[in-house]
Amino acid sequence: MAQDTCRMTGCDKETRNKGDLQYPDDPEKTASNGKRFRVGVFGANFCSDYHEIKYEKLKDEARDARRDERRDTIPDRDLPERDGPPY
Ligand SMILES: [Zn+2]
Repeated sequence: MAQDTCRMTGCDKETRNKGDLQYPDDPEKTASNGKRFRVGVFGANFCSDYHEIKYEKLKDEARDARRDERRDTIPDRDLPERDGPPY
């Protein structure tokens, strides 16, 4: 079975596995409960934490651009709430 590749445009590296350490290079980085961050379902779509965050940022920017276009017609309260990253 072929390994999935990173969802980031232009990147064809293999994705991480769900449950891998989110920040393998930064052992000091822990969640508020003292546990290490693990790669979630969404994070497993990407080769690295860097690409996961970058993809999120591009998506946010695209959404913000759309919102700016529609600001005159749709009230802010009808836009879906953002819950933040799934970890
Ligand atoms: Zn990538």
